[in-house]
Amino acid sequence: MTTATLFNYSYSPTSGRNPHPAPVPVRRIVIIGGGTAGWMTALILARSLIERGVEITLLESPTVGIIGVGEGSTPWLRGFFDSLGLEESEWMPACHATYKCGIRFDGWSTKPGFESYFHPFASMLDNLTMKQFVHNVEARINGADLEAHPDRYFIAARLAAKGRAPKASESFPFDIWHGYHFDAVLLGQFLHRKAVDRGVRYKSCHVTHANLDADGNIASVGTEEGETIAADLFVDCSGFAGLLIDKALHTPYVSFSSNLFNDAAVAIPSPMEGSIPSETVSTAMKHGWAWKIPLTTRFGNGYVYSSRFCSADEAETELRRHLGLLDADVPARHLKMKIGRVTRHWNRNCLAVGLSQGFIEPLEATALLFIQQTAATFVEFVERGDLSEAAHERFNDMMNSHFEGIRDYIVTHYKTNTRTDTEYWRANAANLNLSDDLKKLYSLWMAGKSIAPAVGQQVLGKGYPVFSWYSIMAGMGIFPDPQDLRPPTAQEARFSEAEIATSSSAAPPTIRITAPRSRAFRRAAPSRRCRSISGSRRLRRRHSPSPPCQSRSLPSANSPPSTTRRFAARCLPRRALQCCGDS
Ligand SMILES: Cc1cc2nc3c(=O)[nH]c(=O)nc-3n(C[C@H](O)[C@H](O)[C@H](O)COP(=O)(O)OP(=O)(O)OC[C@H]3O[C@@H](n4cnc5c(N)ncnc54)[C@H](O)[C@@H]3O)c2cc1C
Repeated sequence: MTTATLFNYSYSPTSGRNPHPAPVPVRRIVIIGGGTAGWMTALILARSLIERGVEITLLESPTVGIIGVGEGSTPWLRGFFDSLGLEESEWMPACHATYKCGIRFDGWSTKPGFESYFHPFASMLDNLTMKQFVHNVEARINGADLEAHPDRYFIAARLAAKGRAPKASESFPFDIWHGYHFDAVLLGQFLHRKAVDRGVRYKSCHVTHANLDADGNIASVGTEEGETIAADLFVDCSGFAGLLIDKALHTPYVSFSSNLFNDAAVAIPSPMEGSIPSETVSTAMKHGWAWKIPLTTRFGNGYVYSSRFCSADEAETELRRHLGLLDADVPARHLKMKIGRVTRHWNRNCLAVGLSQGFIEPLEATALLFIQQTAATFVEFVERGDLSEAAHERFNDMMNSHFEGIRDYIVTHYKTNTRTDTEYWRANAANLNLSDDLKKLYSLWMAGKSIAPAVGQQVLGKGYPVFSWYSIMAGMGIFPDPQDLRPPTAQEARFSEAEIATSSSAAPPTIRITAPRSRAFRRAAPSRRCRSISGSRRLRRRHSPSPPCQSRSLPSANSPPSTTRRFAARCLPRRALQCCGDS
């Protein structure tokens, strides 16, 4: 299973198509739902299975809309488009899309110097500073007064700070890893057109029920229009409704509400003015956080909050005030969110993809990644003809580990907060419902030890790579208080400031995107695939023998005796220490 950021050497699509594909044990597949999940899944299945004679039909209700939010991605979306041969120059303008270097977190920590930090999509070039970053972080945990804020070390943070696109000039030999922002409705329409062009059948009809056979498998679905539609395999992309996976098959569901409190959102667009940023901004609010996502034509904004702590009206007013739109006549959309996952994403002859399989709140914009990975992994099982019960188990274990790994990372955003202004933030910091993996990671950190082995060996690493864990803990300022820091030893200070500054400013000349649909924007979307993808991949391989930040490449902790207990007493809120035991 892949990770949500980094490792740009490995995002490549599977290689060229097999000219003589083997038949697969499925003839007809019906997908229910025409949101992003339905159309992404349709395209991924179509790419592999239509040439093997499989018929794929997508059913979409004419009366139930799509959720229509979800405007940020991880870098893995590049692999999705690339595997389908869809160029940025085609899909990005059609979806008002912009480039994303990562996410800035504002106001999550109150620690001086750490009120804001950037979670970057790291690139190969970051190998130049990754070692220094981890070394300095580990030294600072142990009391050395060294520069350890993640913003100093990653190219993506520098590009985003300058409003630059992560696109280098033609001759620059390294790829700059990036994600996207896009209009979710336009993306759905774009994917719909492409899927139908590639042979996916489309039917507008409202599914009312599923008919089970004697073994409990789904034999067919019935529609309001009076049709009965049979298939060998059903894909539930019906969103939070979970028409098949939940309503028909009653698949057990694991709620994440014990440590992810947010269950509602309100969204309000605002005009795009001036140059287009290349980052998502996530700002801590009173009872949750607000996203700000730049598209070429507008900003998408929203407030994700917990209805246990504030009402929908309060959330809307707070968001309007935050956006300076208190008196503006812009409509707001209110949404409910169900946070958790099913226990079996592939249950009998039904695969759940998208919101029907589960949802971790959108703080790190990981939902499309789940869709992509669920569908792509499933296709591999079908291609191998492996639909056995053991295959179900393996598949579901993979999906569940991935969900839990990402959940742990998102929980860390809340657990490490140091805000005390509302009960919401205090409750998050005091929350003791943490996975064992997370408790272990916090304990290692508090003890001044390397967290790399723990991330590598546990479910944690299934969600995020090591550098992301260092980034979040360091970015939130989980260090001894400044007055407890001491001058570094010579060994600790072996990476000079100058070296860090030089390496991290080695960013290539890049493009500033200045106006909606401008020429600069069109130039930013490469028109030749070989330049943006294949060519640069060859070069990356040549210049970058080892991937950045795999656990094996991280330096081991090399620190003097630590000030652990004193540090532990200071660097997390008092209640939070209970979870970390006697580290
Ligand atoms: C507030 C919020 C912010 C988000 N932000 C992000 C983000 O930044 N990045 C990210 O990756 N993800 C994000 N997501 C998640 C993302 O929006 C979804 O994962 C994605 O849109 C896929 O949704 P879906 O296709 O599963 O469901 P939906 O969009 O809800 O689609 C459901 C489909 O099922 C159909 N349907 C329903 N009932 C029937 C029926 N009876 N018969 C036939 N058809 C039916 C509907 O017509 C519709 O086409 C966010 C989600 C929320 C709530």
